Formats: sequence, structure tokens, C-alpha cells
Amino acid sequence: MITRVIFLSLAVSLMFAAPTPAQQTAKQSAATTISVESATSFDPAAATQAWLNTVPSEKRAKSDAYFEGGYWLILWNFLLAGAISIFLLASRISARMRDFAERRTLFGAIHVPLYAIPYFVLVYLLSFPLNLYENFYREHQYGFATQSFIPWFREQLIGLGLTLIIGTILLIVLYAVFRHAARTWWIWGTIVAVLFLCAVAFIAPIYIEPLFNTYKPLGNPEIRDPILAMARANEIPVKQVFEVDASRQTTRVSANVSGFLGTTRIALNDNLLKECTLPEIREVMAHEMGHYVLNHGAKLLTYFGIFILIGFALTRSLFEVVVKRWGAKWGVRGIADPAGLPLLVLILSTFIFVLTPFLNTVVRVTEREADAFGINTSREPDGMAKVALKLGAYRKLDPTPLEEFIFFDHPSGRARIRMAMDWKAAHLPAGESSAGESVPASQ
Ligand SMILES: [Zn+2]
Repeated sequence: MITRVIFLSLAVSLMFAAPTPAQQTAKQSAATTISVESATSFDPAAATQAWLNTVPSEKRAKSDAYFEGGYWLILWNFLLAGAISIFLLASRISARMRDFAERRTLFGAIHVPLYAIPYFVLVYLLSFPLNLYENFYREHQYGFATQSFIPWFREQLIGLGLTLIIGTILLIVLYAVFRHAARTWWIWGTIVAVLFLCAVAFIAPIYIEPLFNTYKPLGNPEIRDPILAMARANEIPVKQVFEVDASRQTTRVSANVSGFLGTTRIALNDNLLKECTLPEIREVMAHEMGHYVLNHGAKLLTYFGIFILIGFALTRSLFEVVVKRWGAKWGVRGIADPAGLPLLVLILSTFIFVLTPFLNTVVRVTEREADAFGINTSREPDGMAKVALKLGAYRKLDPTPLEEFIFFDHPSGRARIRMAMDWKAAHLPAGESSAGESVPASQ
């Protein structure tokens, strides 16, 4: 779960991810454009349905199965994390790891890394079978992965190395807070966690992302110039638009914004460049520019900070109750004792699991804002609909409203296409309506 918290910060790189079986879209969209546009009075609801109907039922069944499998994976990941925590506590392995650390040195601050490093390795090993199924086997099964086992596993080891370094630093600071502020640690701990998320987000484009992919400035002028024109129109510094070789890992079409403050950059991936038309690329990039212009990185950090504060406040009371009841049996002395880390992780992962719909909703609402910015900047409603269908290769296109509330961290395909068709139906003028009222030259 600590790993999940760390990588939550990486989620500040807001994905507009879309895996794309390349073959699928060209034929369908030609047919759709005809059926949608031949309507004499444009009906957004009917147009949305017409776009959705272009997806063959076997493709729809496959993407529904992939996405709905993800609902269960949320549950299995939570149950596995909980089981690992309870196992480490009840078997007193956690207490023995703490005893081992204490025997090595009398200096309290060193106990934390001596405990944390074996803890992270042990948790990684125990969760490896589910990790292997979810992120390697299942991705291949659905045709999204492009890596064979060795390069995949190499990246896993890099990820584990990052967890060991970044996670251990976080725990050293957090446990220093626990030792020095036994009653108010949940407030100071929140400040530490938020500053930590900012720091990880800030260094990610410089030190973390290059470990997995290569980023370079956009090359092809036919693609670059229209994108840079949108960047200029929104006062986004040109040096922040990049392309990334994501095809190294996946067939998904995607783009993202990552970094924080001075390191923020927008990147589109090579799958997107290969498989989308210019209107679609412009729409995706305009969406990502929305994240940048609307300051979504800072806003999400604020929202996550509020969730962390509530989570730590609940943890403070619950941790004490549990330690009173089982502390002696498990060999856990209190919040400042590293042997209690699995209990801390158990409480926080339960909190995150229960809050899944709210965390998803916070991100989804932010994504919807970026969609609105994207359609208004790119002015490509059909491009937006086509990209939404491509995203539909791995995200259920037409969920129930309850399903969308609980499980969707981006708007569904139906919601996105409807937004695009509503925009199209409104026929917004682009300066033409005020052509007769030009601004006097002296102003
Ligand atoms: Zn986005």
C-alpha cells in the first residue's frame, strides 16, 4: 500500500490512456461519419448512439470483460494486501524484523531503514503472483502488452528499486514524526506526505520516467505545428510538449501530463502518432493541455492531501485500539514502532479501498474538466468521439451510472461522445458573429 501511495503521486501524471488495436477504427469511422452527419436536424443522443453502434459486439464484449475483470482485481489486491499485513503481524515476522534491526544498532533512526528494506522486498515477493497475472499475463491475454518476460521483469526490478529508495526515505521521515509527535503525528504526517508527493511528482520527469522510456521533442512538423499552435493559443511554453516511446511496453494510445511546477511537461506517445489522425491527435493533446492550464496537478495534490488527513486521523484512533487489543500478541508497541508498519498499511489500505468510488470520482471530475477544455480548444467533436471509441478497447464504453461512479477514473466512452455531440450540436461561432464590431485601432 505504501507502494500504492508512492505511485499515487505518479498518477499525477494524468493518463489519457487508450490501447488501440490498430486495425479497428478506420473502416468504422467512415461509416459512422456518414450516418451521423446525414441527419437533417442533429440529435446529440442519436449521434452518440450511432457512434457506439459502430463497435462490433465481439469487440465490445472483450473490452467489457477486460474492464469488469479490473473491478475484481481491485478486490483481490485489497484482500491480498490485507492478508499479507495480517500474516506479518500474527506470525510475529514483523516483530522479528524489528528485533533484527534493533540488534544491529542502538541508533533509533537506523532501525527504520533496516526494517523497511526487508519489508518492501517481502511484500513484493508475496504479492508477485497476483502482480504477474495482472500486469504481465493478463495484458498479453488481451493483446495490450508488447514486452516479453525478461524486459518486463527488468522494469519490475527497477520499480522495486525505486520503491526501496523512495519508500524508505518516506518511512524514515514519517517515523521521525511518529517518535516526536505521538499525539499530533496525523497532522504533521499529512504535511510530510503531501510535500513528499510534490517532491516525487517534481523529480518524476527528470529521474524516474527516463528509467522506463525515452522522451524527445516532437519531430514531424505536420503534427508538431498544429499542436504548438494550440499550445501558443493557451500560453503553454513550447518546450513542454514531448513524444515518448510507449510502444516499448504497450499497444495503448496515450498522452499524459507529468511533473510539478517547473518540471511539468505534456507528452504524447508513439502509438498515438501512428494510429490516430491529426484531428484525433489534436483533441487528445488539447485534453492534456487542459490538465496543464487548469492546474490539475496542484489541485489533485490538494484533494489527495485532504484524503490523507482524514485517513491519518482515522488511523490514529484505530491504531491505538488495535494495539491495546493485540499489540502484546503481535509484539507491536505503538505507532513509533516499525513493527507496526503492516498494521498502518492494513488500516490505510482498507480506507483507500472503501474510498475507491470517491477517489475515482475526484479524478474523473478532473478528467471531465480536461475534456471540456479539450473540445473547446481542438474544436474536433468527431475526433473526440473516435478517440473515445479507441479508449473503449480497454475501458467499458457504456456502463451504468452507478458503475461509472464506483469504478471509472475517466468519463466513460458514452459520456465523452455525448459531450462531443452536445458541443457539435451547439454550433458555436468562432469569432464570426462579431465580425462587424472590430476593435478600434487606437485601443
Ligand atoms: Zn486526462
